[in-house]
Amino acid sequence: MEHRELGGTGLRVSAVGFGASPLGNVFGDVPRDAARAAVRHALDLGINFFDTSPYYGGRISESVLGDCLRHAAVPRDRVVVATKCGRYKDEGFDFSADRVTRSIDESLALLGLDYVDILHAHDIEFTHLDQIVNETIPALQKIKESGKARFIGITGLPLSIYPYVLDRVAPGSVDVILSYCHYGINDTSLVDMLPYLKSKGVGVISASPLSMGLLTDNGPPEWHPAPEELKSACRAAADHCRKKGKSITKLAMQYSLLNNEISTVLVGMNSSKQVDENVAAALELSTSGIDEELLREVEAILEPVKNLTWPSGIQQA
Ligand code: NAD
Repeated sequence: MEHRELGGTGLRVSAVGFGASPLGNVFGDVPRDAARAAVRHALDLGINFFDTSPYYGGRISESVLGDCLRHAAVPRDRVVVATKCGRYKDEGFDFSADRVTRSIDESLALLGLDYVDILHAHDIEFTHLDQIVNETIPALQKIKESGKARFIGITGLPLSIYPYVLDRVAPGSVDVILSYCHYGINDTSLVDMLPYLKSKGVGVISASPLSMGLLTDNGPPEWHPAPEELKSACRAAADHCRKKGKSITKLAMQYSLLNNEISTVLVGMNSSKQVDENVAAALELSTSGIDEELLREVEAILEPVKNLTWPSGIQQA
């Protein structure tokens, strides 16, 4: 498994990262044995980056991931663990200094860790971004100084949130960003922001290469926020691949891994089989390249919905 530098953090993360939201049962129930086996297998295949949040499954993901890492008995310095704060299933959004300061202690207890490598403010478009600049990031800085988190990140869907925040905080106070659903076959809009993010020295994590299930044979979960137009185009693309005896998921994984400016591609996984398939896709990409013909056909099917997204967050003044 290829490992890449994550911005200026000094962390080296696997090109395929393990998204642990499925371990919070957000895409369907995951038996504990399957979760443990998936994490063990991921480690064995060279995946060292794991991402969770108190939001995923109402803290279930953090507690299951903690259990899986303990069960795997992996040395702490061999894994890069990211969690988040400010978004909660039971409480909604709260990016106040007080809440995020309590949040890290809750997360560490559930994960069974002394520190996380990255602590993100989770989906910051759901508060006024000036609160993130003036209150949340200073609080995260204090957490960083305390040693409970090594690096600080921000996440969210609209790409405009990143320059808004990064242009208003002191250089170095945000180490990484996590963007999702903006670097895959159907949506590549993150690419235009990569030079800006590089100029800020910020590491780039891209999540949801399968567009949260749109680019899979099983299709997206009930709660998926995409407009119907996008869902049906992705369904057509998956059908096209299946008819040719090929996998939309493999193609989508490989496509997302093509850009080296993106340090790691976080894919949500719930079984050893998915770990196997996604790592195999990455290895095959490095030896044989992507299936160009299939890619052109799928891009043509998705062309009418290219970069089509959905609204997220509050109206920013
Ligand atoms: P994804 O695009 O990675 O899709 C996940 C879905 O695809 C799951 O249903 C999973 O079971 C399925 N899948 C994975 N591998 C497969 C395979 N080989 N074959 C068939 N199906 C397969 O979407 P995601 O899980 O939402 O995103 C990845 C991770 O990124 C999340 O788990 C989370 O850690 C992170 N993330 C963060 C944010 C945020 O911070 N705002 C948003 C989205 C995702």
